[in-house]
Amino acid sequence: MTGIVVLGSTNMDLVAFVAHAPERGETVTGREFRTVPGGKGANQAVAAARAGGEVAMIGAVGSDAFGPQLRHTLESCGVDTDLLRTAEGPSGTAHIVVDDEGGNAIVVIPGANGTVTALAPGEEALIATADTLLLQLELPLSAVLDGAEAARRHGVRIVLTPSPAQPLPPELLAATDLLVPNEHEAATITGIADHHAAAQELLRQVPEVVITLGSAGCLYAARGTEPISVPAPAVHAVDTTAAGDTFVGALAVALGEKKPPRQCLAWACAAAALSVQRPGASSSMPYRAEIDAAS
Ligand code: ADP
Repeated sequence: MTGIVVLGSTNMDLVAFVAHAPERGETVTGREFRTVPGGKGANQAVAAARAGGEVAMIGAVGSDAFGPQLRHTLESCGVDTDLLRTAEGPSGTAHIVVDDEGGNAIVVIPGANGTVTALAPGEEALIATADTLLLQLELPLSAVLDGAEAARRHGVRIVLTPSPAQPLPPELLAATDLLVPNEHEAATITGIADHHAAAQELLRQVPEVVITLGSAGCLYAARGTEPISVPAPAVHAVDTTAAGDTFVGALAVALGEKKPPRQCLAWACAAAALSVQRPGASSSMPYRAEIDAAS
C-alpha cells in the first residue's frame, strides 16, 4: 500500500541569490547560483517522504540532463518513481530569485510537465492503493481533473494546493476534500482579501480548508466546526521557496496517521518552519525526527 501518491510537476530550480530582486529593465549582480531539484509535485513528494510517508510520484521528467537528476532526487528520498514518465524534450524548469529578506520571485517553464495531459495506464491503479492524493496546478488541468476523478472513484482523500493561483473549475473543487491555498491563492480564488472570510467562502465548495499564512502560521476551517488558528514557530527565515510544499507534505503524513487536526497542523507548521531556515527547495526539507523534535 502506498500511503501518498503525488500527481504533479518536477522542475529543476535554477536559483539566483541577490541582495534585492531586479525591477523591470534593471540588471543586478547576484551573489550565488544553485541548481536545486524542485517542482511543486516533486517538492511535496520529497517533503512527505522525509516526513516519514510511503510516497509514489506520477508526472514526467524530460529527456535532457535534468531528467535523470530529478528522478534520482526523488528515488534517493525513497519516493517510488516506477510510473514517473520520461518525455521527449526539456524537463520543467523554475527560475527563482531569492532576496536577502528570504522573499522569492519565480518563473516556471513547464517542459515535460506539459506533456502530462491525462492519466496513463497503471496510474489509476496506483492512485487506488493510496490513502491520499496530493494535487497542485503545475500540470495541465486535464491531468489534474483526471487524477481527481480517479481518486474519487476509489475513495482516496484529495488534498489540492491551488498553485499557481488561478480561478478553479467547480468540478475540481467539488472533488477536493482538503484545499490548502496560501493567503494570495485564497484571495485569488474567492476575490476576498480577509483570510477568515475567504475560508468561510471556500467552505461552500470544499469540506475542509487550510490557508497558510507565512510567518503567521495557518488557519484551518471545516464545515460545522470552529476554525483553528495555529501560529508558526518564530524563526529566522533565509529562503521560503518550498515552505508551502513542505507544509502540505508533512500535513499529508500526519493526516494519514489520523492525528487530531490541531496536532496535524502544528506538526506541518514545525516542518515548514524548519525548511525556511535553510536555502533551497527539496534540499531544505526536514526529516521526521527533526520535525518531532521541533513540535
Ligand atoms: P507558500 O510557501 O505556499 O507561499 P506560505 O508562505 O503561507 O506558503 O508558507 C507555508 C507555511 O510555511 C506557513 O503556513 C508556515 O507554517 C510556514 N512558514 C512560512 N514562512 C515562515 C516563516 N517566516 N517562519 C515560520 N514559518 C513559516
